[in-house]
Amino acid sequence: MIPYGRQSLDEDDIAAVVQALRSDWLTTGPEIEAFEKAFVGIAGSSHAVAVSSGTAALHAAMFALDVKPGDEVIVPAFTFAATANCVVFQGATPVFCDVDPSSLLVSPAEVESKITSRTRAILSVDYAGQPCDYDELRVLADRNGLALVADACHALGAAYKGRPAGSLADLTAFSFHPVKHMTTGEGGMITTNDPDLAARMRSFRNHGIQTDLHQRAKAGTWQYEMTELGYNYRLTDIQCALGRSQLRKLPGWVDRRREIARRFDSAFEGLDGVTPLQTRPERTHSYHLYVIQVDPKVVDRGAVFGRLRASGVGANVHYMPVHLHPFYRERFGTGPGLCPTAEAAYELVLSLPIFPALSREQEQVVIESVRSAVGK
Ligand SMILES: *Cc1c(COP(=O)(O)O)cnc(C)c1O
Repeated sequence: MIPYGRQSLDEDDIAAVVQALRSDWLTTGPEIEAFEKAFVGIAGSSHAVAVSSGTAALHAAMFALDVKPGDEVIVPAFTFAATANCVVFQGATPVFCDVDPSSLLVSPAEVESKITSRTRAILSVDYAGQPCDYDELRVLADRNGLALVADACHALGAAYKGRPAGSLADLTAFSFHPVKHMTTGEGGMITTNDPDLAARMRSFRNHGIQTDLHQRAKAGTWQYEMTELGYNYRLTDIQCALGRSQLRKLPGWVDRRREIARRFDSAFEGLDGVTPLQTRPERTHSYHLYVIQVDPKVVDRGAVFGRLRASGVGANVHYMPVHLHPFYRERFGTGPGLCPTAEAAYELVLSLPIFPALSREQEQVVIESVRSAVGK
């Protein structure tokens, strides 16, 4: 089965990990800062804070903004559950907003319609790897005194009007899960230009303690104080060594994803029943996912899914809208009808395999399988 996504790991990645294993510091050591420093070069931000997952990155962002019970954060319904969960971690309320039917990105008008006196932040999602309308979202955030947070777990290596993902919002979260653009096994990063927010997140990932063991060793002191309630969300030096090695190859991998997407686009052009997601002008899509919408008037999505799987193509569905999950229905009383476009899209979407190591032969298998699955 060709999976919808998978990691690329070379001998130099393995060597970097082995070197970290032989070093004095398995965690809280120098590899963390080295990885963060390298990351800002890609993300275009002044600061990057490495954490243990993309979910921890989102949680850290909500914590740094002091999102608390009674607050609302606007979240697109069409995303992975963690985007909304981070709001709930802080005791606040996610307010689900609908997406644009052709790109499945949040529409600024929808976001605006959800702003109330309790809104603290807008959390955008660069679905599939395409940046949202950041100029419009920025205006909305500034006009209403809100923070703008980007869940860019799909969009590492993407850009909007020449500005990289990681520099488009006040805080941006990334994931290094193996299906994402690069991996540390598990891992995440938050970028920001605000030194105070960066400092709060560094403390947050380390129990709410300002200094780490490495810094205390250097300063020759044992003394530390916990000033707020944090977590252990640290990324190890072993993982950061892998991340730094992977990061060097990221630009080439993003180019590969874009190249595969271009060939899928032209193969599916004019294919009845299949519509790739709309790509918007002035942005560089980094294609974490290649998503098509299946026209139910031509062919049933479930049937296409089954036929693809039968021919060895591991198609997938991203995502069930978050407000339809039992947890959200029970805790917040959400349900069908709240975000009709997201709910409709859930019935139509399929993610096709896309990852740097996908061969030309495998690409052809995907294309031919889609054609025959829709009866062409
Ligand atoms: C992968 C992902 C996350 C969570 O990342 P983890 O590293 O798995 O915790 C959050 N949001 C979106 C949109 C994602 O795709």
